[in-house]
Amino acid sequence: MTEKSAPRRKHTAGFSLLSERVLELLASGRAATRTELAELLGAAPSTVSLTVGQLMAHGLVAEEGTVSSAGGRPRKVLRIGGSDGFAVAAELGGRHARVGVVLPGGGLTDVSTVPFATADGPEAALPGLAAVLEALTEQHGRDRLRGVGLSMPGPVDVTSGVVTLPSRMPGWNRFPVRAWLEDRFGTPAVIENDANCMAVGEHTVQPPGRQQSIMVKTGTAIGTGVIADGRLYRGATGAAGEITHVRVEAAHDIPCSCGNTGCLETVASGAALVRILRGRGQEVTSTEDVVGRALDADPEATRAVRQAGRYLGQVLAANVNFFNPDAVYLGGILSTLEPFVAAVRSQLYEGCHPLVTKHLAIERASLGADAGLVGAGQFALQRALAHALRTATGAPP
Ligand SMILES: [Zn+2]
Repeated sequence: MTEKSAPRRKHTAGFSLLSERVLELLASGRAATRTELAELLGAAPSTVSLTVGQLMAHGLVAEEGTVSSAGGRPRKVLRIGGSDGFAVAAELGGRHARVGVVLPGGGLTDVSTVPFATADGPEAALPGLAAVLEALTEQHGRDRLRGVGLSMPGPVDVTSGVVTLPSRMPGWNRFPVRAWLEDRFGTPAVIENDANCMAVGEHTVQPPGRQQSIMVKTGTAIGTGVIADGRLYRGATGAAGEITHVRVEAAHDIPCSCGNTGCLETVASGAALVRILRGRGQEVTSTEDVVGRALDADPEATRAVRQAGRYLGQVLAANVNFFNPDAVYLGGILSTLEPFVAAVRSQLYEGCHPLVTKHLAIERASLGADAGLVGAGQFALQRALAHALRTATGAPP
């Protein structure tokens, strides 16, 4: 690198960072004016105005009407340039995928469930799914497709766009899913872990006052996504929120899928409930069976579900004390069971400092089963915007 090029790069990188945040907030609908942007970003209004001006010059942001403000002059409403775009998204499960069309701001349409055989491996399973997403794209107009987002039931290396060490996705390790999608669709694509998708999806539709939250996915496995200062928090190696492998006393030496023993997952997940109820002579083979029994008020299943909620609540309490969020959202199929949610909630109130629980919301995800799909679409729209920003400013990828 020459001496001359150094300052320019620095300038471009700085511009990109704030611009990306501005685009994110406008795209998610959390901010619509320069004043709201400055408040949410904690940045000087003059800096925000400068950035918005640059984005407008590049055609990435446009002004659209005004809103009146209390005692002040009307404020210009901002929107993303070309905001009539959409993303197609899919949330992959073991045997099915949920698919849909995601709009800027968290809108979701054309949701359906299609067969998807994860166990067949990516080369066999992905083409069928891509055909479904392409049909949705044609319906809504190919020229308005901005990106493709996939929620994966396993750890994801987001830098390279591959799934890593997926215990429940044999044959997928290191397969370049993102590159495969970008080749096929000719737009930016994103793959993300399912709990992270749910955290971002739910965050998108919550009031702007909630900037710190924890989303817990309680299904066959347990996953957690963390939102800090309004953004997904990944941690140093992308493993932030891995509470499922916290050791709990009650799990003793039960072997876990991670190779260790005594993890939360072995006593509080859907898979654990299947094992526990089978050990008590019940004929259940899946998390759905367990949920079915609990919904039928089967006493044994209800007891087991409540106990699982307590274990989860105990581990969550330590994290909630540490992190002090505005909200804990419960998603996944176990969160449809009232005894489970009630047990988590009571453990949090019991195990947390009153200052921490004073304004803490403990709720089922308002998007329900759609949270992951909305999040996957939001990731895709964000990546498309970042891509457009780099193209417009000539910044390095
Ligand atoms: Zn484990």
